[in-house]
Amino acid sequence: MTIRQTFSRPNALIALLCLAFGQTALAAPPGAQSCGSQPLALQILGSGGPEATDRAGPAYLLWMDGKARLLIDAGPGARLRLGEAGGRMEDLEAIFLTHLHADHANDLPALVKAAYFTPRSRRLDIVGPGGNAAMPGTRRWLATLFGPEGYRYLAGHLAHDHGEDFPLRGINVDPANPKVREVWRSGDLVVRAAAVPHGPIPALAYRVEGPGFVVAVSGDTSGDGPGQAALEQLAAGATVFIAHHAIPESAGPAARRLHMAPSRLGAIAGAARPAELVLSHRMTRTLGQENETGALIRKAYTGPLRFAEDLDCLPLGPSPRRP
Ligand SMILES: [Zn+2]
Repeated sequence: MTIRQTFSRPNALIALLCLAFGQTALAAPPGAQSCGSQPLALQILGSGGPEATDRAGPAYLLWMDGKARLLIDAGPGARLRLGEAGGRMEDLEAIFLTHLHADHANDLPALVKAAYFTPRSRRLDIVGPGGNAAMPGTRRWLATLFGPEGYRYLAGHLAHDHGEDFPLRGINVDPANPKVREVWRSGDLVVRAAAVPHGPIPALAYRVEGPGFVVAVSGDTSGDGPGQAALEQLAAGATVFIAHHAIPESAGPAARRLHMAPSRLGAIAGAARPAELVLSHRMTRTLGQENETGALIRKAYTGPLRFAEDLDCLPLGPSPRRP
């Protein structure tokens, strides 16, 4: 099911709202680099979690032939990091949201606004979980965000600097179905998803399949119950498996209902056997414990392991690093 959002906007408001629509500047991280020269690469735009640190919130950018094709999650700072990475909003085909917590979805309106200052005219797909009693679904969330009580001026047919407009299409993925299935396809890209447990919050994990590569992203999840099998299937043989590492092994039961402890994360990676495991969504409670975390993970997974940093560039094509 899809919707095409076509709200009109009072043109006169835009100048004032432009002024009000500021972003908090983040410090440019060390090692900033562009993946744009790689034929195939995944770039970590944000490696942090909800905390106000010098890491952007989760956001992962797929580069293909110098173009920013897909974005997975749009955490705070994603817009800034996209710009630092040299990505162009007019090139993005779709944004996939693992869930609608603010640390994963907050920059969506800022990215939509940024796109209005580009020659973009084609549709932008926003794929995310459907709703439940705890959260609205992605389509309803978008309708609220860009509706009469939200950023109405950003919705629909907007005559902006380039005289173009573009529609948003919201796509809901059933958040109660842990079965891995195709949720989106375009050209040489197929995206599969499955519901994964994240307390009461509808949440998804994704698998992006392209020519010669697979990228899997766990999102935030406890990784238990049917979620464990879903994650193992989504990450099976992945070129890169980005797993959210939000808690240390010492975390209590409440945190473990939301997130994977390193031992569980390692067990899933050990079963899925990705070519590289990348730990992201790094938070204060795990930073500085990389040796302990790595040792726990290595009990089950012995392949390459990386702790993500903002703007890390992971080539996806054949390379000495990934034979
Ligand atoms: Zn999170």
